[in-house]
Amino acid sequence: MEREVGICTACDTVYVMGIDDPRTTCADCLTGYGLQVVWFSIPEEGVLNLTQHQATPEQVAAGVYEPPSPAKEIISRLLTFDRLPTLSEVICSAAELSEIAAALATEGQRVMIGGAPFLMSHLESWLRNRGLTPVYAFSRRVVKEEMLPNGEVRKTSSFVHEGFI
Ligand SMILES: [Zn+2]
Repeated sequence: MEREVGICTACDTVYVMGIDDPRTTCADCLTGYGLQVVWFSIPEEGVLNLTQHQATPEQVAAGVYEPPSPAKEIISRLLTFDRLPTLSEVICSAAELSEIAAALATEGQRVMIGGAPFLMSHLESWLRNRGLTPVYAFSRRVVKEEMLPNGEVRKTSSFVHEGFI
């Protein structure tokens, strides 16, 4: 189902239009006419990318969907800690991230998470409380050895996406 998602340009609150539709005034910060509206849809079996990284081509092939770009920016900001955060800041980030995920995904949807370990347990429980299913991507490191003409061995490593856990 395609959803109309509104993002307040003043306070970054994400709304599902038509459900908690604030129309012209943000219910959170009361700023008027600052809503950026995007259309977003993700199939039921799809996985919403709630990490700050762009999904790899393999992950996209496995059904990972990027959030709309204004939401991606907010997600990246909420996942980045430039200094030691307080516990309440960590919980706030988890709550806001789960709110964005709930606006973009539907009941039971898988949400790919990753980032600072101290945030993940909070994020997992906030997502579960909102009826979403947090998952982690698992990738395997593959090292290739190649013999060069001069007899040296060149090692290259890459990561192969194997699934979600
Ligand atoms: Zn606002």
